[in-house]
Amino acid sequence: MPHELPKAYEPGAIEMRWAEYWKNEHLFDAPTPPEGRHARTFSLLLPPPNVTGRLHMGHMLNQTQMDIIIRWHRMMGDLTLWLPGTDHAGIATQMMVERQLRTEGKSRQELGREEFVLRVWCWKKQYGGAILEQMERLGASVDWHRLYFTMDDDLSHAVREAFVRLYEQGLIYRGNYIVNWCPDCGTAVSDLEVKHEDVPGKLYEIRYPVVGSKEFITVATTRPETMLGDTAIAVNAQDERYKHLHGKHVILPLMNREIPIITDELANPEFGTGAVKVTPAHDPNDFQAGLRHNLPQITVMDERAHMNNNAGPYAGLERFKARERVIADLEAQGFLVAVKDYTIPLGRCDRSGTIIEPRLSEQWFIKIEPLAKRAIEVVEKGYIRFTPDNYKQIYLNWMYNIHDWCISRQLWWGHRIPVWRCADCKEVIVAREAPTKCTKCGSANLVQDTDVLDTWFSSGLLPFTALGWPEATRDLETFYPTSLLITGFDILFFWVARMIMFGCWFMMPPEKPMREGEKPESHEEALHNSVPFREVYIHALVRDAERQKMSKTKGNVLDPIEVIEQYGTDATRFTLAAMAAPGTDIAFNPSRTEGYRNFANKIWNAARFLFMNLDRLGEDVNVAWTLLSAKSEHSTSSESSHPKGVPGFHATTLEDCWILSRFNRATADVNDALLTYRFHEAANRIYDFFWGELCDWYLELIKPRLMGNDAAAARQACTNLLTLFEASLRLLHPVMPFITEEIWHAIYDGKPPLKSIALAAYPQSDDKQIDLASETHMAVLQDLIVSIRNVRAELKVENKVKVPIQLYAHEPEIRKVIEENQGAVERQANVERIEFVNASLAKLPGARHTARFDVHVVYEQKIDVAAECERLRKELEKIEKALVTGRERLGNETFLSKAPANVVEGLRKQVQGNEILLEKTKSKMQELGCE
Ligand SMILES: [Zn+2]
Ligand SMILES: [Zn+2]
Repeated sequence: MPHELPKAYEPGAIEMRWAEYWKNEHLFDAPTPPEGRHARTFSLLLPPPNVTGRLHMGHMLNQTQMDIIIRWHRMMGDLTLWLPGTDHAGIATQMMVERQLRTEGKSRQELGREEFVLRVWCWKKQYGGAILEQMERLGASVDWHRLYFTMDDDLSHAVREAFVRLYEQGLIYRGNYIVNWCPDCGTAVSDLEVKHEDVPGKLYEIRYPVVGSKEFITVATTRPETMLGDTAIAVNAQDERYKHLHGKHVILPLMNREIPIITDELANPEFGTGAVKVTPAHDPNDFQAGLRHNLPQITVMDERAHMNNNAGPYAGLERFKARERVIADLEAQGFLVAVKDYTIPLGRCDRSGTIIEPRLSEQWFIKIEPLAKRAIEVVEKGYIRFTPDNYKQIYLNWMYNIHDWCISRQLWWGHRIPVWRCADCKEVIVAREAPTKCTKCGSANLVQDTDVLDTWFSSGLLPFTALGWPEATRDLETFYPTSLLITGFDILFFWVARMIMFGCWFMMPPEKPMREGEKPESHEEALHNSVPFREVYIHALVRDAERQKMSKTKGNVLDPIEVIEQYGTDATRFTLAAMAAPGTDIAFNPSRTEGYRNFANKIWNAARFLFMNLDRLGEDVNVAWTLLSAKSEHSTSSESSHPKGVPGFHATTLEDCWILSRFNRATADVNDALLTYRFHEAANRIYDFFWGELCDWYLELIKPRLMGNDAAAARQACTNLLTLFEASLRLLHPVMPFITEEIWHAIYDGKPPLKSIALAAYPQSDDKQIDLASETHMAVLQDLIVSIRNVRAELKVENKVKVPIQLYAHEPEIRKVIEENQGAVERQANVERIEFVNASLAKLPGARHTARFDVHVVYEQKIDVAAECERLRKELEKIEKALVTGRERLGNETFLSKAPANVVEGLRKQVQGNEILLEKTKSKMQELGCE
């Protein structure tokens, strides 16, 4: 038997099977783009997850949104590319492997650099694919063929190229700098990787004896152990208290070193004693002051934050032990003036939680200003747009205050800095390929810089390096700039800003590879085309059902794979889409997902009903029009060849005209919503149409025709249903790719015209199929049927009992509609017969009324007057409220001038209807003697 679907919908096996099929059939691999410009391309870069990563809800949200958008564009006939990859994640991966080594009783130092790096590669080979397998499970329609890893040869080559170019342009320099140093990770960390918090602590006041006098100068510090590296005391030049000490010296207690008293803005007369200690090697402000006064920089700690030989008797002590000893000694020697409670702004390493130690070290930096200038310009000019748009200002504020970027990390895993030093003549050689001999003295005694680059350096280049830069590839020409970036707020500065800076730098002529015969573009045009992406969509946070941030410590982290295993990927995707209003965090409640699994079940059962009829009605029922492949579209890429509406649907009855109209409206709304990333609106609109209109009403209304004796009518009804159902599956596909693919293949009995529904054309609305009259008439029938069902329920009429009704229609048109569809009303509301009367029934106890009709269910039953009054009172309240709002809007000049005429007309009708209803309800309450 054809069209077989199992009775129960079991998402697990179905989803795995299609995920594998899509990948094995290379359905989402972009073809090598043919020569020439493509009018309609759409490309996305997947924010590359760390190789060490496991999928979390944030990834799932992010990838669901990207997948919806790219599937939609693909079905619209665009040439699409979704580029996946993974990031080598320097510090995270190195720590992971080091931990593994520790369990074997080994250390990275014992292994040595080369062997350790090999170990990391082995680790990557073994575990680095886990997150990709999880992605497959989500149905992410990425181009697996173009999968990259940030340490691949060609990408590493591109990273070196970028470094060398920046160096040659004078934008990379090496400098002594105070960096945020993490003693645990053993490396500099960027400002962004430091988490700040205020904690209760102590402020120590210490006095330094002035040389050649009995005076002391008192200073305050929260890190007294750093005093061992003091090289001056600063006072403000204007501070009267110290004017007589200018040019004198103090003795540094404990170290017995003489250090000068300098005048500098660093000392604020309003704060404390007005004098401060200056420790250039351990504090960023002191470092600057030290440069101004040419002070020595004395580093008193080593890389693990243990005191070094410069700390004299404290050498070898861990920093906090040293603090205790220093305080004890200062006190014993009479230099400690006071210890006060104090709130300390503390910085911790984002990764290890260790307290950051500002430390002087030699690092590589990018002079960021020229790059930032362009990155500001493109956003200010709107060449890159942000959604939600408030992120534009957040981005700009950060860019206006940007500092030079420290790009070196003291790690072994990563892109090693392409700089060599000649051991003989000290020449510095910066090169794309490892040099064999010194360019100055010819010596072969070259040593490469031991640092690696910050991972954000390589990932900042990805929008073009992953497309083949520095080569002028067809991919680069076709897919750059990418169309859209979807990412989280947490990497706006780490990654998004860096991509914009690098993109606008390297992809601007003359950096951009130019093709033969191409005219040099104007600056504006070039700038416009240099951006890494045209739009940035910042997605929300996924929180738990109680709106709490998910965290391991709270134990409320939801594992997306577990949710998927319970409810299916489609239902999980649908939940995230339906809740993803831009700028609003998602309170993820699995009960919602359960609801969407029920939605999938509903569709499944509707398909089974359809197939049962198809098989019964025989051969000549088919999808009534030839499917247009979306993929073959982009060669012509003209809007008009994209099919509109539901071409093969022949509407002969009211419900046919109505559902066709509703389908076209839903289609217009969904396309509209997707255009502006209103995922929630798109998902909810499809849900309302598919379940609320197609399954709940249309399927029921056509049953008599489907099952009736008129074979031709039955086949027509079945063809219509099949055609409409197929189109609805395409409408739903981007959000629920698996169940739609499964049913779609079953429709064609395993021999579909295309390899996948994902390659079929996305529905487009056809204005000609929108039918206002049918919608109005259908609304009357729905109102009537629901009213009768409600009365039946209240009267507790048993299901098997058919009841007669009396009906009064206000207008002949309405009466005609009901007469014509009498059979439908009788079946849907379990009515024995309809008696049309010529006078209002509104005053009759138990009767229901609307603005268009009054209906009375003829059934012997004592009316509970109190309950009926209560019901009417509530009704009255509702009507009055609606009237107030309606009249207010009609009285609003701005609304009247802006709203389309048909909207105003609709509202006017609504108000009139409510006025009638109000009168009817009031008179009925009077009749019943309600209070
Ligand atoms: Zn750390
Ligand atoms: Zn040399």
